[in-house]
Amino acid sequence: MATYNNILLAVDLHPSYDEYTAKRAVDFAKERDAKLYIIHCVEGIHAYGAAQGYQLIMEVEQQIEQEATRALSDLAQKYGIPSDRQIIANGPAQKVVIEKAKSLNVDLIIVGGHGRHGISLLLGSTADGIMHHAQCDVLAIRAKE
Ligand code: AMP
Repeated sequence: MATYNNILLAVDLHPSYDEYTAKRAVDFAKERDAKLYIIHCVEGIHAYGAAQGYQLIMEVEQQIEQEATRALSDLAQKYGIPSDRQIIANGPAQKVVIEKAKSLNVDLIIVGGHGRHGISLLLGSTADGIMHHAQCDVLAIRAKE
């Protein structure tokens, strides 16, 4: 069986499913004595042609980032993931998670098998994209209904 030393858990901060995913990831990392990082990507708001609303959009984005930072910190603290392993990044989740995995020398990415709209039989597009394009192994945690 493969040995994993550095694991990256990607969370979309879904209130119903991330706790389960985090618990599974933490147990998985502990069993292997691996370092676990947790990441959430704040994806920008698309506001085509709304130049006059630019300032407002910047403020809303800042607020979203602050709230995401707090939510990630709460989740990570609950599962004993230290602050230096909590990552808030800006940009499209699929691309950013894969880039971070490379720069952190991660050998396993863990994603949730749920999307923002709940559980489906198929992986959501972010998880599917990470599965297809990551250069390391990817594990999807299937959340329970
Ligand atoms: P989706 O592809 O939207 O169905 O989301 C499935 C999984 O992709 C989530 O459980 C996370 O593991 C990952 N994911 C989606 N959005 C984000 C995000 N903004 N930041 C980090 N990971 C994400």
